[in-house]
This record gives sequence, C-alpha cells and structure tokens, in this order.
Amino acid sequence: MSLEIIPTLFNLFLKNLTVAVSLGLAFIVLLQSQRRLVNWLFTLFMLTLSLWSGGSFLLHFAGLGLAGEDLWRGMALLGLVTMPLALYLLALALSDVPPGVFRTGSVALGSIGMAWTFIGVFTKSYVAHMDIQPSLALFYLPNTESPLFAGTLLYGFTLVVMSFGVTGWSVLRARRITGRISTEKLLLVLGGSLAVTGGALNAVPAVGNLPLDSLLMIGSGLVFARLIMKEQLFDPLRAAHVQLQEQARQLQDANRRLQEADRLKNEFLANMSHELRTPLNSIIGFAKVILNGIDGPITDDQRTDLTAIYTGGQHLLSLVSDILDLSKIGAGKMTLKREWINFEDLTLGVMPTMIPMVEGKPIELREKIDKDLPLIYADRLRIRQVVLNLLANAAKFTDRGSITLRAELRTRQDHISCPAPYILCAVEDTGIGIAQEDIPVVFEEFRQVDSSTTRRAAGTGLGLPISKKLIELHGGCMWLDSKVGQGSVFYFALPLEPVREQ
Ligand code: ADP
Repeated sequence: MSLEIIPTLFNLFLKNLTVAVSLGLAFIVLLQSQRRLVNWLFTLFMLTLSLWSGGSFLLHFAGLGLAGEDLWRGMALLGLVTMPLALYLLALALSDVPPGVFRTGSVALGSIGMAWTFIGVFTKSYVAHMDIQPSLALFYLPNTESPLFAGTLLYGFTLVVMSFGVTGWSVLRARRITGRISTEKLLLVLGGSLAVTGGALNAVPAVGNLPLDSLLMIGSGLVFARLIMKEQLFDPLRAAHVQLQEQARQLQDANRRLQEADRLKNEFLANMSHELRTPLNSIIGFAKVILNGIDGPITDDQRTDLTAIYTGGQHLLSLVSDILDLSKIGAGKMTLKREWINFEDLTLGVMPTMIPMVEGKPIELREKIDKDLPLIYADRLRIRQVVLNLLANAAKFTDRGSITLRAELRTRQDHISCPAPYILCAVEDTGIGIAQEDIPVVFEEFRQVDSSTTRRAAGTGLGLPISKKLIELHGGCMWLDSKVGQGSVFYFALPLEPVREQ
C-alpha cells in the first residue's frame, strides 16, 4: 500500500466520524424536554453536515465500484448547499435579532438562493469534472463557466456574511447593554466561524483531500451543541440548584425561628405554671385547714363547697405540674435527682394507692416484681410518677379483670433502643385497649384517643408524653402493645448502666 493513501484514509475516517458526531449531537439536542425552534434548526444544521460528510465519504468508494455515484454526489452537494442556510437560520435563532422585516426578508432571500443552488446541483452544472482516484482520493473541478456556479458562490457568500452579521450584531448589542462580551456570544461566533471555514475549505479542491473541513465542522457542531445544552439543560439545572439552596436556607431559617418560638413557649409555660403553683398551693392548703375545722366549726354546705374547692384545686395543681414538667423537658431544663435505688423499694406502696381508683369494679390488682433486681441509677420520684401514671391509666380504662405491675431483669437487647442489660417494667390491664392506628397518638402531647367531650375518663393527654420523656431522659424507652377489647400492656425499659441525661 502506497503512503499516499494514509491521508485519504484519515480523511475517510474523519468523514465517518463527522456523520456519527453530527447525528449524535442532533439526537441529544432533540431529546431535550423542551424542544424549541433552535433545537430543530440545530438538527437541520447537523443533518446537512452528515449528508455532506456521508455523501462525500461514499463517493470516495465510487472508484472502487460502489454503485450510486450520482446519488452520493447528490447527497453530498445537497448537504453542502443547504448548510449555509441552516447555519444562517441557527445563527439567527441563537442571536437575539428581533422578529421583523429583516428576519423574514433575510430568510426569504436565503431560501431563494438555496432553491437556485439546488437547480445547479440537480442539473449537474455545478461540478464540471470529478475524478475519483484508485487511492480513493476525490478531486473535482467546479464549473466556473456556469452562472449557476456563480449564483451558488454568491448564495453561500451572502449567507456566510449575514451569519457573521447577526452574530456580530448580537455580540455588540450584548456588550453595549452589559458592558462585557459573554462567553456564550463568543461561542456563537466561534461555532459560526468554524462551520464557515470548513465549508470554504471545501470550495478549494486543492485541499479537498485534507481532513481539515471535517475537523472544523465537527468542532462547530460541538460548539453549537454546547451552547444549546447550556441554555436548555445546564442553565436551568443550575437555576434549579440555586433555587433549591435558597429554599433550603429559608427552611433552615424557618426551623430556627420555630425552635426559638418553641423555646420561648416552653420558657413562658414553665414560668407561668411555676407562678401558678404557689397561690394554688395556698388555696388547697387553706381549704384543707378550714375543712379540718382548724379555723372553727363549718356547716355541711360550707363543707360541700370547700371540698369542691379542694378537689378542683388538686386537679388544677396536677395539671399545672404536668405542664411545668413538659415545658421543662422541652426547654431542656428538667434535671433528674438520680441515686442508686432498688426498683422494689421504688414501687413499694404503689399498688395500694390504686385501690380507691378501682373501687366497685371487679378488678384484681397484681404485683410481680422479681426479687433481687440490681440497683438502677434513677430519679426515684420521677420513675414512681411514671409507674403511678401507667397504673392510673390502667385503672381508668379497665372495667373488669386485672391490672398487673411486673418488673424483671433483661440481659439481651431485644430490638429496643435501650441498651442491655435493663429492667423491664410492664403495666398490664384487661381494659378497653387501643386500636393499632391510635398507638402513636397516645404518646403525643395533649392527644387522647377519644377526644369527645363525652369520653369515659377525664384527663389532659399529658401523662403518657411526660412519662415517655422522663424514661428517655434516663436513657430508657417506652412502648406499648394493645388489642381493642382485650387490654393493653405499657412497657418501659431502664438501663442498668448510668446514662448521661439525654
Ligand atoms: P390522659 O389519660 O390524661 O388523657 P395520657 O397521656 O395518660 O392522658 O393518655 C392518653 C390517652 O391514651 C388516653 O386519653 C387514652 O385514650 C389512652 N390510654 C392511655 N392508657 C390507656 C390504657 N391503659 N388503656 C386504654 N387507653 C389508654
């Protein structure tokens, strides 16, 4: 094989590559979700490029006997003569020349020129002589005598000048407005120049055998594709990203404000309930003093009224204490008075306090606390408060059967968040139970499963959330199992290892 064939083979390879790249780019740009005029024009431009490259590629093989020389030549020339108009239309669409007489007029002029050139192509008066060498190199002589050739040149030249005109105008205008030349506008000029230089080189048969034109055309396609993708894909993506960041920032701000408002609310509740407790204690205390007859004898009517004041005061005090507890926990100001205690001691005397609560109901109270439970490091009063609350709930929501308080040592983790070993305490009842979908609700503040005014038991909906939080402050956890009509088991686990206050 002679060395001359090497540049030809390289040329052929590049022509092939041009077809692949231009069709690929056309597809990518057409696959955009928003398909605007500029996408279709880019596709047209890429199509002319691949027609010309594909046609001239195949034409090289006509010398080797590949049939269809006329067809390949027609294809290549069709691409080549449509290219200036496609390029001009693309440049026009990418520039910001406003719609009007100039736009319409120049497009009409370009289309007439292209029609004229087509006639030249199809009457074969464009190329005077064409020679395909055995080395696959292709040479041709334009028919300079033909007026169609002159017209074709004029058409190509006019559209090239106009392409530069509209892109140049766009660049200068943008510069006048913004004071700088944007990269996009420069890319527009670069893409146009590469395409035009590639096309112009093709009109010079002397360099027809060099792959320069294909290279320049591919470059031009890439530049235009980047411009379109930037406008339609990257810019919107960046804009969406910026918007997302802004929204995230606003959300963080709102969150911070919300936390601050929550903190202020908790602080206010803590202060207010603290202030309420002092006069309330006086009311309860003095009611008790008068009830006990310390201030002298009282009538039966006075006793009835004073008892109402006393029990109402007690109720209000427990409510205020609950709110104080909850706000203290919320504000992170709840401190536990922890000591090493025996769980059995802690529950001592708890069950008998339940007797008045289940009075008149056929309920058996049971206590199954394991002997020799290890000591736990906990706040005695708070854990007792939790156990009492669970038992009081059980008494409230059970009509018959039993209420059992159980406690045992567990050494395995058992899929709960409390670290083993821990003491597992359970309060079991045979009461009304809680529906599966209501289980998460009962641990929410101020929530009750039956929130109607006619519900069977009074309450505020604060007992369980406070209990759960108190257990969590000890590093433990609380959960429940329940079946409607069968009863509920409320569990809590307290770790043996002292845990830092959460
Ligand atoms: P309160 O009892 O003051 O309303 P809690 O937070 O202690 O508030 O309980 C919330 C709700 O959970 C109760 O109103 C009740 O609907 C439900 N509940 C609690 N314990 C039981 C139980 N042992 N059996 C059935 N329902 C219960």
